[in-house]
Amino acid sequence: MVDNILIKNALAIVTCNHQNDIHYNSDLIIDGPEIIKIGKNLNAGDARIIDGKDMFVYPGLVNTHHHFFQAFVRNNVWLDWTKLDVMDWIKQIYEFFKLIDSDSIYYTSLSSMSELIKHGCTTAFDHQYCYPKHAGKLLIDRQMEAAELLGMRFHAGRGTNTLPQEKGSIMPDEMVETTDEFLKDCDRLISKYHQYEKFGMKRIVVAPCQPVNCYPETFSESVKLARSKNVSMHTHLGEGEDPIIVERHGMRSLQWCRELGFVGPDVWYAHGWDLQDEEIDLLAKLKTGISHCPAPAFLGGFNVLNIPRFYAKNVPLGLGVDGHASNDNSNLMEIIRTTYLLQCHAAGQRDLPIPPPQEFLKMATAGGARLLNRDDIGTLEEGKAADMFLLDTRKLEYVGTLHDPASLPVKVGISEPVTMTIINGKVVYEDGKLKGINESEIFDKAQKTCKKVIYSDSNYKFSVENFNKQVED
Ligand SMILES: [Zn+2]
Repeated sequence: MVDNILIKNALAIVTCNHQNDIHYNSDLIIDGPEIIKIGKNLNAGDARIIDGKDMFVYPGLVNTHHHFFQAFVRNNVWLDWTKLDVMDWIKQIYEFFKLIDSDSIYYTSLSSMSELIKHGCTTAFDHQYCYPKHAGKLLIDRQMEAAELLGMRFHAGRGTNTLPQEKGSIMPDEMVETTDEFLKDCDRLISKYHQYEKFGMKRIVVAPCQPVNCYPETFSESVKLARSKNVSMHTHLGEGEDPIIVERHGMRSLQWCRELGFVGPDVWYAHGWDLQDEEIDLLAKLKTGISHCPAPAFLGGFNVLNIPRFYAKNVPLGLGVDGHASNDNSNLMEIIRTTYLLQCHAAGQRDLPIPPPQEFLKMATAGGARLLNRDDIGTLEEGKAADMFLLDTRKLEYVGTLHDPASLPVKVGISEPVTMTIINGKVVYEDGKLKGINESEIFDKAQKTCKKVIYSDSNYKFSVENFNKQVED
């Protein structure tokens, strides 16, 4: 059954549209998956009425980079980024990731997506490149099951690593696939799941993991497949890999991607903190976007993305929580504020001013939609998808903040779970509860799976000892 909803007399509806409109003391009507009207004194027949008297209403957040499968390797004090560079860290952490199985993918997806929804995120992109041979190929299928159970709008990035270790890859061989295997599975997933229509809930992205762990043809063939099927592409870029790519191919990663055709408005990269000024200009020209994930800058001390320059050049910018191995939580709302704080911290080293606070909210909404190549989500406007979150502002912690609803999630931050999350016209989270699931029951099954796969005595002992040994070496 499709719900019709009338949000009555909302204190503020923050649209995040081009003109930064905010509708005060206004109503919003949802008919099926769509926002059909925003205005004053509206009626909607027998629709469910939500009292908006103390509510701020925002577009649902759009997460543009993540690795759900990493959720089972969190909260480990020995995983210390400050002692490792990215490539060393990848080598270590894969001792655990190669243990992942199909059930792990399902429960880590449920865990990550639940946390995203509770904090106002309505569209999740995941970069799933973990394919240990024993786990089989039906891993994104398990993620689709999880997204459907929670009612989340989901873009699944089918990743891969094709280069074996003997050719210089840092990926364990049991996680390496052939380019043909990868393309065949992308093709299968697109045919089975990709919903091209407006308000599509499931989409597929062709997403080889990263230049250092793939043959060039994995990227060039990805371009051919993705463009023939009209789907987007994604990979990691500008995160410390350039010296390896220069040594191997005689050029930096962005140029390498450009020569292989892996650039354009249907491509976005994760990170980009190592991109040089002229490369930022090139991204602007190519309309290729960046998913900025600030967590690695905090945890690993990596360069702070030059957002003022990206912003001034109108490079498409979105935000991402990043995988759990470099961010132990999955809270995109928190990322909005940490992105802003980090930019303020670096402002003294910039020749351009940082964007106004509300622009950081827009990176997490309209900006994310732009990266995912969607014009039907990311703003609250008539004709757009009914993806939004509501915040009850009548709480002591919000006293003194209500005069600027668009800057509140950025400067003040919304640290608690939101009051309500609506996705595609359906209430999926309300009164602290995820709709249609027994969270406690799923928790038990998920925790049991995590213990079996990662923290069984033999696996964990072996892996931690191995990890410590390699760090000491
Ligand atoms: Zn990543």
